[in-house]
Amino acid sequence: MGDKQSEPPPPVKRYRREEKSSESEEDIDNYEPYVPVRERKKQQLMKLGRLGQVAAEVSAETKSSSDNDPDDDTSQEEWGRRYNVSLLDQHSELKRLAEARALSAAERQAREEQHILESVAQSKALMGVAELAKGIQYEEPIKTSWKPPRCILELPPERHDRVRDQLRILVEGEDVPPPIRTFQHMKFPKGILRGLEEKGIKKPTPIQVQGIPAVLMGRDMIGIAFTGSGKTLVFTLPLLLVCLEQEIKMPFIRNEGPYGLIICPSRELAKQTHEIIQHFVKHLKMTGMPEIRSCLAIGGVAVSECMEVVQRGVHVMVATPGRLMDMLDKKMVRLNVCRYLCMDEADRMIDMGFEEDVRTIFSYFTGQRQTLLFSATMPRKIQNFARSALVKPVTVNVGRAGAASLNVRQELEPVKAEARTVHLLQCLQKTPPPVLVFAERKQDVDAIHEYLLLKGLDFANIQHVINYDMPEDIENYVHRIGRTGRAGGEGVATTLLGRAAESSVLKDLAHLLREAGQKVPSFLLDMIGEPDVPAPDGQGCSYCGGLGHRITECPKLEAVQNKQASNIGRRDYLANTAADY
Ligand code: ADP
Ligand code: MG
Repeated sequence: MGDKQSEPPPPVKRYRREEKSSESEEDIDNYEPYVPVRERKKQQLMKLGRLGQVAAEVSAETKSSSDNDPDDDTSQEEWGRRYNVSLLDQHSELKRLAEARALSAAERQAREEQHILESVAQSKALMGVAELAKGIQYEEPIKTSWKPPRCILELPPERHDRVRDQLRILVEGEDVPPPIRTFQHMKFPKGILRGLEEKGIKKPTPIQVQGIPAVLMGRDMIGIAFTGSGKTLVFTLPLLLVCLEQEIKMPFIRNEGPYGLIICPSRELAKQTHEIIQHFVKHLKMTGMPEIRSCLAIGGVAVSECMEVVQRGVHVMVATPGRLMDMLDKKMVRLNVCRYLCMDEADRMIDMGFEEDVRTIFSYFTGQRQTLLFSATMPRKIQNFARSALVKPVTVNVGRAGAASLNVRQELEPVKAEARTVHLLQCLQKTPPPVLVFAERKQDVDAIHEYLLLKGLDFANIQHVINYDMPEDIENYVHRIGRTGRAGGEGVATTLLGRAAESSVLKDLAHLLREAGQKVPSFLLDMIGEPDVPAPDGQGCSYCGGLGHRITECPKLEAVQNKQASNIGRRDYLANTAADY
């Protein structure tokens, strides 16, 4: 594009772009030969297909781990069976096995898990095309003009650690900004403080105490906290602040923007986030601040509505991946001044298959941005996803990722499949409406619909969630029950447990209950065939967050891999047939 090159300005400035010419020196030693896409896919497929085999090998090794003789006969036998493996592969596998033998069983498990995680990690970087083309790597976080107030800066680091301990905030990263316990000390303008007051929000939640200062400082961040813990304000309030600053310095002109982009996995969530932004915009305006314009780019809302705002110059865009990609593709919006990107519910985003879309969206950025990721579950998977996109990120983790909200009383009831609908009616008596009922299968939803009118997910004050059946994975369970017990209120979750539920998810459930300090009913122990649930060790599956199994036995990962494998096969087939004609 025909933009002028100039001296590197601070990255928050609009119109001018950071383009360091010194970075063009290529490191020839790092040259890697090109491997055709088809070949790479095949390799990946083989890797996926071999996961089960590798896991079996490791358990076999564990049995014979006392024997450290490298000339061991058993290993020869194992190799004899695999005559169809090339010598080179055999050599590297033998080397790997010899190394593995030197490790203890625990180390081996850790290494195995790492191996699987790496194989599901992304091969394509989350970067802009310009960055990719020029090999630009950003080394330093974006700098903002915000600083913690002096009274906080003067406090010793021990005070910061103590606050984090008290609030159970875990942080990782370089130079983590101090936690701040009041909104006043975060130096928000009057309008935002009034907006908070009107919502009855008096003091920041733990994720806000640590997350807001980090975002205000311009740091990239991974924020992990349970549902209902107030993550939305962590990324909306600082964004409003930088937009105000930008607007005051240099008002946005026609077709300029967005400066900040928030991507959500669902329309519902995008709408709610947009409403929260509008709420604070209104209060800022009432205190005489300039207007911050935001628009909603989601399916179901006319593009023209969004374009009207874009044409006036837009500060904030809240979008779902599909609609946003469409608008970018048609060049209706550009991300050339976008310097703030937030992905909310990033775990859901990956689960819903938006990963490729997000990569495409990243390719439209033309300069460094502040990147934020928020999620309720699965830190490791998110970290894989984000590794290439975040610069010196601060990770803020409140409570175990994937843990159930402690405000929800989890009740389980054994019910035969035939009796469920009738039983549901009894469950509905537990609390006053609204009640949210979840079911895995569409047919069941239709059947339940005869009794109930479902209005969607955005009820305020849901006191009771009913699971008509146990979801297939524990994450969904945590998400479903997280619809109640929000903002410190108490909630009830009732789950109708029939014979159909998988024993793996039931194990995860038993551990989850135990972790939340709730009683594990004896019928559940009977169902999983265990006398009791061991005390939580804070670990579990690093892929789905389930506490009842390790990543090596994760049913969810297996399902995802099967799907990927079949997709790769199909795409190759389509490519072949297309080439034939
Ligand atoms: P999450 O995204 O972490 O699931 P939300 O940001 O949606 O949580 O917030 C959940 C609810 O908590 C909202 O109704 C919000 O208004 C409220 N809330 C947010 N921050 C606070 C706070 N500091 N004090 C009290 N309530 C809050
Ligand atoms: Mg949220």
